[in-house]
Amino acid sequence: MSGFEATESWALAQDAADPLAPFRGEFLIPPHGDGEQVYLCGNSLGLQPRATRQALLDELDDWARLAVEAHFRGRHPWMPYHAEVREHLAELVGAEPSEVVAMNSLTVNLHLMMVSFYLPTAERHAIMIERGAFPSDRYAVESQIRFHGYDPAEALIELEPDEPGGTLSMQAIERALDEHGQRTALVLLPGLQYLTGQAFDLRLLSEMGHRKGCVVGFDLAHAAGNLRVPLHDSHCDFAVWCSYKYLNSGPGAVAGCFVHARHARTPRPRFAGWWGHDQATRFRMGPQFVPTPGADGWQLSNPPILALAPLRVSLEIFHRAGMERLREKSKRLTGYLDWLIRSRLDHVLEVTTPAESFRRGCQLSLRVKGPRDAGRALFEHLSAHGVIGDWREPDIIRVAPTPLYNRYVDCLHFVAEVEHWAATR
Ligand SMILES: *Cc1c(COP(=O)(O)O)cnc(C)c1O
Repeated sequence: MSGFEATESWALAQDAADPLAPFRGEFLIPPHGDGEQVYLCGNSLGLQPRATRQALLDELDDWARLAVEAHFRGRHPWMPYHAEVREHLAELVGAEPSEVVAMNSLTVNLHLMMVSFYLPTAERHAIMIERGAFPSDRYAVESQIRFHGYDPAEALIELEPDEPGGTLSMQAIERALDEHGQRTALVLLPGLQYLTGQAFDLRLLSEMGHRKGCVVGFDLAHAAGNLRVPLHDSHCDFAVWCSYKYLNSGPGAVAGCFVHARHARTPRPRFAGWWGHDQATRFRMGPQFVPTPGADGWQLSNPPILALAPLRVSLEIFHRAGMERLREKSKRLTGYLDWLIRSRLDHVLEVTTPAESFRRGCQLSLRVKGPRDAGRALFEHLSAHGVIGDWREPDIIRVAPTPLYNRYVDCLHFVAEVEHWAATR
């Protein structure tokens, strides 16, 4: 028994009893008419925390009042600023503080990681990704293969989805590794697949890849702030993620990067910049690059304070809410939406995201039954009525109730709006 009920009174009672409900008040929910949007698009752009504006104004004020001295005397001194976000970032992704750094953007970090961790040889130069990989990851990987003088037609191995909703079984990955593992230099997989919503077991994937002698890296764009990701314990080699999706740090926010502690003092090649230089001697401005041990050693430039301030605010919220509590709520909230859709919208929508909670995060991918134009019309109807998800060609609507600011009644309103559309066709 699910214990769920499809009534407004039941949903409101769940929200009233939810210990995380007050966090919604810390976010700016976009208006719709006289009310608020039903915002289910945190998988694409997370909402703005109320505290972000003041954090930015504080930095502008410190710049105005203190100018260069704000590096040391600001309310949040700029010199060690990236270290201020480090503890909470590490906590969020299950890492040691020295294993994480906030820098650049996701695709830039992916390239920097591949410079160090994709070291192809004649016998072993392939990269394994999923066939439906996010385009940026695919472009990055193909360009790295070409950069090293190989041909993606031969050196890019794509895992074929083998399950009905376009998801990938562990057996399919195992088979691909058995067949191609010996020639694979790098296995690059998502923590959570952006299109299908499928979540992966990072520990298991790392172990499977390492058993074949491959480097294993993860793209956590849709996993960070959504799932508990035990990065250190997973033993993966590196990971990258962005901060504007579930991490609510604003458009194009500063991204994250993880390098496992066993690579802290790696002799591998890297692209270097002065901010990755050993901190004790950075300002001697010597000619020879000596990397700081740990993830910090991959930094290039001094960090963009105005872009880090929203990340600092956001991570502080995650710290107070706690990823464990968020995940518990998330499983039930998405479980509720899933139950509502299966029991009331079966004639309109098919849930293609795995049903097991350990194989998904908060996002559900919904295939609209019927022709493509009907799907598009439904999506536009929802948007016009302030119910915000996103659309992926040819027939997928993604909705993601996030545990920080979404409610049980949001799930109910989504379903009511779809029913309304279906009834008036
Ligand atoms: C969102 C997303 C990106 C976006 O890359 P940026 O460098 O942040 O523009 C890349 N890869 C995946 C898997 C994503 O989900």
